[in-house]
Amino acid sequence: LRSSLQRTEQLVAVSELAASVTHEVRNPLTVVRGFLQLAKSSVDPKVTGYMDTAISELDRAEFIISDYLSLAKPQVERLETIDLKEKLSGIASLMHSFAAMRGVSLLLDLQIGLKTYNDSVKLGQVVMNLVKNAIEAVQENGEVRIRSYLRKEYIVIEVADNGEGMTPEQLRRLGTTYYTTKERGTGLGTMVAFRVIEAMGGKLEYASVRGEGTTAYILLPAAPGGT
Ligand code: ADP
Ligand code: MG
Repeated sequence: LRSSLQRTEQLVAVSELAASVTHEVRNPLTVVRGFLQLAKSSVDPKVTGYMDTAISELDRAEFIISDYLSLAKPQVERLETIDLKEKLSGIASLMHSFAAMRGVSLLLDLQIGLKTYNDSVKLGQVVMNLVKNAIEAVQENGEVRIRSYLRKEYIVIEVADNGEGMTPEQLRRLGTTYYTTKERGTGLGTMVAFRVIEAMGGKLEYASVRGEGTTAYILLPAAPGGT
């Protein structure tokens, strides 16, 4: 209980900071990205590589801004009935090239007919953050498996990897302010995930064994007719 109170206090402090990151910052980034994309077609091929790097850095900035905005405003906004199989397959195809680049197989095991009444954009953001972490945790022969199934009144989305895993101490620090072990990490991904899932009336749980892998469990209320 104490650590969850500390976590809440830290999150409130971060939210205040995050409130200052708004569309004002995001719009110019989007414009720059658009012009780089356009300019690519008319420059020397040697230069297009630099432009691709610039574009992927802008995409990184966009992800970071989205994470900050969700921290500032974790509440669900646009509620709709989400077909889990459809939603998760869509996320998997978005993450496909990121996984392939690292030689990781992305596997799906999705039950048909599961639905949740929720904020589709925010749910997508959370699942992407978890899948990204899973992909980043594995080495050779890496496998990341996304599963969805029903457990009592909850829909469960499981993201499992056979990667480096975490020690009990690392597991305790997961989701606390800016906690990261990565050189280019932000520590925002799991903070956003815990906060948004809580705002959705759900739960986020982890099981991890150092050297064996990690499984994240998102539990969300099932929508009527989603059982
Ligand atoms: P970031 O990915 O930017 O480091 P996150 O909040 O997404 O920030 O994750 C925080 C830290 O938690 C990571 O740096 C990593 O040490 C640990 N972590 C998260 N997910 C996993 C996972 N699937 N396997 C191993 N470690 C993980
Ligand atoms: Mg992350």
